Amino acid sequence: MNFQNSITFAQQMDKQDELRSYRNKFHIPVINGKETIYFTGNSLGLQPKSTAAYINQELEDWAKWGVEGHFHAKNPWFSYHEQFAKPISKIVGALPKEVVVMNNLTVNLNLLMVSFYRPTKERYKIVCEAKAFPSDQYALEMQVRSGGFNPDDAIIEVAPREGERTLRHEDIIAAIENAGNSLACVMIGGVNYFTGQVFDMKAITEAGHKVGANVGFDLAHGVGNIELKLHEWNVDFACWCSYKYLNSGPGGVSGVFIHERHCNNTDLPRFAGWWGHDKETRFLMEKGFQPMKSAEAWQMSNAPVLTMAAHKAAVDIFDEVGMEKLLKKQKVLSGYLEFIIDDINEKHLDKSSGKWLEIITPRNWKERGCQVSVIAHGFGKDLFNQLTKKGVISDWREPNAIRMAPVPLYNSFEDVYRFGEILKNNV
Ligand SMILES: *Cc1c(COP(=O)(O)O)cnc(C)c1O
Repeated sequence: MNFQNSITFAQQMDKQDELRSYRNKFHIPVINGKETIYFTGNSLGLQPKSTAAYINQELEDWAKWGVEGHFHAKNPWFSYHEQFAKPISKIVGALPKEVVVMNNLTVNLNLLMVSFYRPTKERYKIVCEAKAFPSDQYALEMQVRSGGFNPDDAIIEVAPREGERTLRHEDIIAAIENAGNSLACVMIGGVNYFTGQVFDMKAITEAGHKVGANVGFDLAHGVGNIELKLHEWNVDFACWCSYKYLNSGPGGVSGVFIHERHCNNTDLPRFAGWWGHDKETRFLMEKGFQPMKSAEAWQMSNAPVLTMAAHKAAVDIFDEVGMEKLLKKQKVLSGYLEFIIDDINEKHLDKSSGKWLEIITPRNWKERGCQVSVIAHGFGKDLFNQLTKKGVISDWREPNAIRMAPVPLYNSFEDVYRFGEILKNNV
């Protein structure tokens, strides 16, 4: 695509954008009377205007019915979570029975590790990415310790090579092959939260299975962002949160994927509660856990309906649009952001002076989603503060990284152009 750094070009792109009307379905934060350039959909997605009505429906039904709402509410609470199976399965490329919405992300990661990380004396290692999101690091560390092993020995971190920013795919595969029979589990973020690099989940899953390990992904930065085919890729398990690209509100409910072959295995060890018990006999309140033959078997508690209502509002929008259109626009939009940053480097900065912007996210669109991460060489937090002051909401990581994620549902090409103008005037 031949991009141009001009307002006419950006507006033309917006005019041709088949998703342009969706921006109007979201509340865009306003600073100093002006809509912000909101590039943190990878951190907390914006609120759909429909969310309040979805939550209100449940509040009204609670007021009207009390406990009877479990069966008589417009969306009965007893089966509230079931509404998500179909639309979420489409977003992550799964069978409806392979997904369930429950709890929060790190809680789910730990629950899934209980089933899929079963260390033995010979097979106890985990391959993960170096500098994984801290919550994931802590979870893995304690899973290993609870199994009686030493994290320094048991956790194999794959890091970028000297002088490189992102992981080489062959290095991930090599780490898996080298661990061989000692490898119990591969647990990687499908999209690295810092660099925005997308990993080849299909090949990683194949490599893990070849040495007899289970393979799972944390898709916090993948769900609603990139193409996922979890069932087809044969992934064992995955989990994600709903408040980033899925716009379901702060601390919103998480989702999990468990491959059909494991759903059918009722002998699999797991933590359990009444909501994972066979639906038909749940209210007989009898002894003896009988897990459902679906991802629902991992549910322990009854559904948090109020946060799930916010999730439903957002998921309904995804279901209406479909991932295909989102992916199509996402590639062009993040490509435009790259182009604008390159253009500023070329015309307004000078690498030899030490002041320049290094895009660390892979250029190849197969290896990235919405997010573009930049190291601002020669700049400090001042630059970021200036951007924020002028209405750009992005994310700063010490010492000099800026993460930005224009998203196809509510960001426009004009957002990206205007961001470029603000950046240009502050470097
Ligand atoms: C955002 C994020 C989390 C956050 O975990 P919560 O349990 O939702 O607080 C964890 N892991 C990754 C990879 C993330 O990106």
